[in-house]
Amino acid sequence: MNILAIESSCDETSAAVITNGKICSNVVATQLIHTQYGGVVPELASRAHQQHIVPVVDKALTDAKVGKIDLDAIAFTQGPGLLGALLVGSSFAKSMALGLGIPLIAVHHMQAHVLAHFIDDPRPQFPFLCLTVSGGHTQIVKVNGPLQMEIIGETRDDAVGEAFDKTAKLLDLPYPGGPLIDKHAAAGNPQAYPFPLPEMPGLDFSFSGIKTSFLYFLQKRVRENPDFIHENLDDICASIQFTLIDILLKKLKRASRETGIKEIAIAGGVSANSGLRKSLTELGSQLGWQVYIPAFEYCTDNAAMIAMAAHFKYLANDFTDQTASPLARMEFHS
Ligand code: ATP
Ligand code: MG
Ligand code: FE
Repeated sequence: MNILAIESSCDETSAAVITNGKICSNVVATQLIHTQYGGVVPELASRAHQQHIVPVVDKALTDAKVGKIDLDAIAFTQGPGLLGALLVGSSFAKSMALGLGIPLIAVHHMQAHVLAHFIDDPRPQFPFLCLTVSGGHTQIVKVNGPLQMEIIGETRDDAVGEAFDKTAKLLDLPYPGGPLIDKHAAAGNPQAYPFPLPEMPGLDFSFSGIKTSFLYFLQKRVRENPDFIHENLDDICASIQFTLIDILLKKLKRASRETGIKEIAIAGGVSANSGLRKSLTELGSQLGWQVYIPAFEYCTDNAAMIAMAAHFKYLANDFTDQTASPLARMEFHS
C-alpha cells in the first residue's frame, strides 16, 4: 500500500511516500526567499509552493521508486496554516487523486507533528503526553491513540517558536532565529541574566509577557552600553533559551503529575532545540519518564509526518473527497 503525502502549510514544500507504514522518501524544499523579509510573507510562500511542488513530488516518487500508477491514496495537509500556501498543496493533491482515480486523505498538521514519533523506533506507548512546540503552536497533547488526541494545555497568546524568532530579531539575527539562538546559547551562561517566569494557571502557556521583558531588558542594557548585545550575545541567548525551556518543562512536569503519564514526547520545530532536548532528557531520568525525541529531520515541517498520519487514517478508512477545502484555523479533532 503506497501513499503520497504533500505538506505546504507554511514555508516548506514537501512530499513523501509511505509504503505499508514505512517512509520510503521525504523531500523538503525550504523557501529561502523569506529570510530577507525577517519572516514568512504569505503571498511569496504560495508562489514558491507553486514553483516547487512538481519537482518535489517527482523526486519523492523517484526516490521511493514508486510510480504514480502504484499509488493507493494521496494525502495533504488540510490545515492549520497559511491559506494560500495550503491551497497549493490541497489543489495539487485533489487534482492528482482525481486524475488517478484514487482516494484522498486530509491531515491535520499538528496531529502529524505528534505522529512523527511513529516513523522510527522507539515508538511511544499509548497514552502518552506530547509537548508540541513550533512556529505557530505550543500545546500539551494527551495522545490516547494514533487518531485520538486531546489538547490539555496550550498557549493563550504567542507560540514558543515565535518567541524564539521574535527575540532573535531583537538581537539582529536573521529569520528564522530559533536555530541561531540555539547555536549561540551553546557557548553562553544560562544563568547570566535571570528573567521572571510568567504566571499562568493550569497547563496553559503565555509567551507575550516574557517577550516584552526580553525587549525591555535589551533596551535598558543597550542604553547603558550600545555594544551590549554584540559583546554578550552568547550569554543573552543562553539566558533567553533557558527561560523559554524552563516555562515549557514546568508545565510538562505538571501535566505528567496530573495525568500520571510518564511516557513523554516532544514534537514540532522547537523540539530541534538542543537545550530543550538535553533538559528534557535530564528531567526524564530524574522523574522516571520514558522520553521520546524525534530525529532532527522530523522536527520541522516535512511530509513524512503527513504520510505517517495518512497511514493511520487509511487503516481507519478515514478518507475525504473533492469538496475538502483548506482550513487556515483547522480544529483539532479526534
Ligand atoms: P506550526 O507547526 O505551528 O504550523 P511551523 O510549521 O511554521 O508552525 P515548524 O516548521 O514546525 O513550525 O517549526 C518552525 C519553528 O521552529 C520556528 O519558529 C523555528 O525558529 C523553530 N526552531 C527550529 N529549530 C530550532 C532550534 N534549534 N531552536 C529553537 N527553535 C527552533
Ligand atoms: Mg517553516
Ligand atoms: Fe509545523
